Amino acid sequence: MANKEDNVIQMRSHLTPKTPSNEQRYCHHSHITVVAEMRLLLCNDCQLWIEPFDYLLGWAQKDWAAEQIAKQHRKEVEQRYKEKIKLKREERNIKARLKRLKSKLIIYEQSLKANQ
Ligand SMILES: [Zn+2]
Repeated sequence: MANKEDNVIQMRSHLTPKTPSNEQRYCHHSHITVVAEMRLLLCNDCQLWIEPFDYLLGWAQKDWAAEQIAKQHRKEVEQRYKEKIKLKREERNIKARLKRLKSKLIIYEQSLKANQ
């Protein structure tokens, strides 16, 4: 059974900087453990220590990027809505013009019949 002193040594050994393996370099550290007494974070997936500020910064950058994408999507939705309104107006105008042309055609056909 480990005593308190063993835990201290074990903790220090974990603090030795490690060069991340290729697998660890691509870890998104999505499952972490907060080690409050050391003020550090530990990735449960790759077992690397994570500097809390780096983790927070990464989180803030992802949040900012997601917000930019959301803004772009909202802008596209708004633009598509404006295009839809414009197309509906054009459709109404074309239908009205077609109706006027049909009326003129009927009048023209009636005048042709009357002249025969
Ligand atoms: Zn990780």
